[in-house]
Amino acid sequence: MSSTWPSWLPLRDDLRDQVAYGAPQLEVPVRLNTNENPFGPSKSLVKDLEHALSEIGTHLNRYPDRDSMTLRQSLARYINETSDTTFTAENIWPANGSNEVIQSLFLAFAGHSRVAAGFEPSYSMHRNIARVTGTSWHSWERRDDYSIDVNHIKERASEVRATLIFLTTPNNPTGTITNIEDIRRLAEISGRTGALLVIDEAYQEFSAQPSAVTLIDEFPHVVVSRTMSKAFAFAGTRVGYLVGNAKVIDALQLVRLPYHLSSATQAFALVALDHSQELLANVALLRQERERVRAALARLGVNSLESGANFFLFSAQNPGKLWQKLVDVGVLVRDVGLPSHLRVTIGTPEENDRFLASIKDALGESSSG
Ligand code: PMP
Repeated sequence: MSSTWPSWLPLRDDLRDQVAYGAPQLEVPVRLNTNENPFGPSKSLVKDLEHALSEIGTHLNRYPDRDSMTLRQSLARYINETSDTTFTAENIWPANGSNEVIQSLFLAFAGHSRVAAGFEPSYSMHRNIARVTGTSWHSWERRDDYSIDVNHIKERASEVRATLIFLTTPNNPTGTITNIEDIRRLAEISGRTGALLVIDEAYQEFSAQPSAVTLIDEFPHVVVSRTMSKAFAFAGTRVGYLVGNAKVIDALQLVRLPYHLSSATQAFALVALDHSQELLANVALLRQERERVRAALARLGVNSLESGANFFLFSAQNPGKLWQKLVDVGVLVRDVGLPSHLRVTIGTPEENDRFLASIKDALGESSSG
């Protein structure tokens, strides 16, 4: 994409020096760079998707259900089953990936003359969407071990005056889990300063922690963003959703585009939820693989960070060089811009073996890894 813009293009001044966000999409055999689930849908799931498509196909001349009611009910059921809560469709707002959920939160609750804050390093789209929506961004640095310092925030939250505070747990790219007691303390603090506390739980199903959805009843300003892109292995369908107090969901209706969620998206997501047991069965395997790969790296003398997600950071003396060496042999990992680290997503056992063999070769060739 060009970064020099023609003079006739009335692009916003603050976007002129920006580049589009996105990891390289390279056609290599082992893609471990975007935290996708490596397992594709089973034959029976594909069959049910085909059936769903043939059902909606006959009325694609019509707009979809603007309020996605059936999908919202089904998502509420899924959350209630996994977290012992009592949400209804009124507490759920689905969108095209949790990225759209996050963008909508900015549109409704932030923007010009407002501030959003987050604990970094973390998922950079929070900061990026702040910029695109003209929201000022305040960064609280995580500790050296990437945990968050709630006492520090307690003293400073009122000065920052954020209307949105983001916390990602398990955190991307570090894998760090913030425990529910610390989230509760943050909820108390943000309640006093008038912020919505947004817990980004894109990787929640991979962690053994209780979900922050269990705090929503007590703290109506706590909202939780989830996705079907990771544990559910449905990244291609683009479904994320917010769980929150009904008033928050009502407010999001003010900024959503009409019919934002296509009939196909709604139908496919419903099929995925019907197959949730089968889809989520791979979560245990991915967690097991995560620990197997970390242990194998340790035997090669490579340190890695404990993670509650389907990825982890591992140390690399020269991340750029090691990244290229791995790409050259068909293995794509992510250089997240952290000094001395790369991030790898857990793949199938075969992909993970290939990653390990490639790391071993790269380390053997030189000391640059
Ligand atoms: N939140 C976090 C922490 C993520 O890592 C990602 C994707 N990498 C997202 C949200 C967005 O996911 P999606 O739009 O696919 O739901």
